[in-house]
Amino acid sequence: MNLIIMGLPGAGKGTQAERIIDAYGIPHISTGDMFRDAMKNETALGLEAKSYIDKGALVPDEVTNGIVRDRLAESDTNSGFLLDGFPRTIEQTNALEEILKSLDKKIDAVINIHVEPEVLIERLAGRFICRDCGATYHKVNNAPKVEGTCDRCGGHNFYQREDDKPETVKNRLSVNITGSQPILDFYNDSNLLHTIDGNREISAVFGDVKSIIDGI
Ligand SMILES: [Zn+2]
Repeated sequence: MNLIIMGLPGAGKGTQAERIIDAYGIPHISTGDMFRDAMKNETALGLEAKSYIDKGALVPDEVTNGIVRDRLAESDTNSGFLLDGFPRTIEQTNALEEILKSLDKKIDAVINIHVEPEVLIERLAGRFICRDCGATYHKVNNAPKVEGTCDRCGGHNFYQREDDKPETVKNRLSVNITGSQPILDFYNDSNLLHTIDGNREISAVFGDVKSIIDGI
């Protein structure tokens, strides 16, 4: 089965991806891993990607798409794969269609782990740090035993990293939502999209994931 997994940051996509590859034994094709492998193996495209990354520039689509094509042409994907982190734009979605057509493959299902942005903001923006000793806490998941007092050093001085601040998290999510909506629409129009409520126990979410995959 050829799958794509989607979900906003913090929605639990990575956890579900791990469960899928464990249960079904298909390769996990994440963009990060693909880039790392291509650079490590010094493929032509890997070296090209590296030249952009080293400059701190964005890797152009044609390079990314080429790396995806190379990866999907490998024989371990013959009985299926799980794409994670690609496609990220509608242009990449169209490119993926072309790639799959040329390899005589197709996507069987797109699994979208959905969690309301407000919940994600709570999850992602809850982290704070003790200024005195560096211990990290989370408002909901890992709060200090005594509110306002560091468990480790007894300090009362906390701060949030820029990345963990609600405004930053909100912006990151809204960029992601804007980017992914056309992709979701595309796969919805192709009757491939399955949206799952991700705001539940990991195993309950995976139960739904499993019934989608088993129904293919
Ligand atoms: Zn402390």
